[in-house]
Amino acid sequence: MPLAPQRADVPVTIDESKCIDGCTLCVDMCPLDSLAIDEDSGKAYMHVDECWYCGPCAARCPTGAVTVNMPYLLR
Ligand code: SF4
Ligand code: SF4
Repeated sequence: MPLAPQRADVPVTIDESKCIDGCTLCVDMCPLDSLAIDEDSGKAYMHVDECWYCGPCAARCPTGAVTVNMPYLLR
């Protein structure tokens, strides 16, 4: 299985140390299904490099683990 990318240049990064096992809120919120839970680690990650920068994934995360890396031109 390919390693989940956690590069700074993907649209959304997730701090695995803050992600709660068993939580799927950000995955459930994403209209594009861009986020998923890694089967091995149990943590959320961006598995499709596609994003509308709409923000509910970050807004709903109870621990603030999700960062939406807004492109400069959209700010
Ligand atoms: S910002 Fe929107 S499209 Fe991007 S990962 Fe979060 S919920 Fe999905
Ligand atoms: S909402 Fe936060 S704690 Fe829940 S799965 Fe997503 S990143 Fe992890």
